[in-house]
Amino acid sequence: MKKTLYQKTPLIRSTSLEDVYYKMECDQPSFSFKIRGMEMLCRHHLNKGVKRFVASSGGNAGYSLAYVGQQLNLAVSVIVPSTTSSFMIDKIKGLGAKVEIYGDVWDEANIRALDIAEKTGAAFVSPFDDPLLWTGHSKMIDECVSQMEKPDHLVVSVGGGGLLCGILEGLKRNHWSGVKITTVETIGAASFYESWKAQKIVELKEINTVANTLGAKRITEKALSLAKEFEINTALVSDEEAVKATQLFYKETSKRVEPACGAALAIPLLYPESFDATERVLVIVCGGANTPSKQ
Ligand SMILES: *Cc1c(COP(=O)(O)O)cnc(C)c1O
Repeated sequence: MKKTLYQKTPLIRSTSLEDVYYKMECDQPSFSFKIRGMEMLCRHHLNKGVKRFVASSGGNAGYSLAYVGQQLNLAVSVIVPSTTSSFMIDKIKGLGAKVEIYGDVWDEANIRALDIAEKTGAAFVSPFDDPLLWTGHSKMIDECVSQMEKPDHLVVSVGGGGLLCGILEGLKRNHWSGVKITTVETIGAASFYESWKAQKIVELKEINTVANTLGAKRITEKALSLAKEFEINTALVSDEEAVKATQLFYKETSKRVEPACGAALAIPLLYPESFDATERVLVIVCGGANTPSKQ
């Protein structure tokens, strides 16, 4: 088998909840699932001779791209908005990537990244909006198929919807049909929630959440069109609940994850009544590298 940079992650059964399983993407070498898509995307471009990459992300997409770049010997630039923590900037630089601070929000950094890509011939890397990313992410469901019986219910955080697209693609490819999906966002980053309600893409005016990894003002169209093939339940949690869930998860597993991941964890850990007693539940522990604070 070809060696991959991403790892097959453990699937562990919750010790505090009945029939709840955690897919431990926090155990990836870049601490989040994003490495899966980034590896697929980089190898695709590398096969065409492209060795320079530019991304817009102060978070896990930039960090995972930097990780893949370091391992595959690629030149990586990451454009981050001014809100990005020095903790993440240092982590990304630590992997040998260049970091440029541009604009106050992700959208501005993204425009800058697109501009640099056009001028330099580097491949532009979106944090969530690329079919290569989705296919890379979808491999986690292939692994789940060999690790557990088919779940009745799957819980996943949504930012721009790239993870959701990957999960749904993986469920379809593996013929895991009839799995109920609960999408989770924080109240201040409810871009999927609003778009699902309207059954069309709704762009948020602003993002206001501690779970900044979930802060995309608009989701990718594909997330909405794919979701229409599934039974979807859209959940929102407060910032406090997302943070609380990271603390409970830490108590249970000794793993630190971002509030973005805490959002998904809040459903089983704070609202276990969301599931029928007979349901087998798969929770995607999407992880996150931005965990500097004490928990
Ligand atoms: C990127 C990310 C998300 C959201 O993924 P999208 O593809 O943007 O929906 C959630 N949690 C973590 C830890 C992430 O890095």
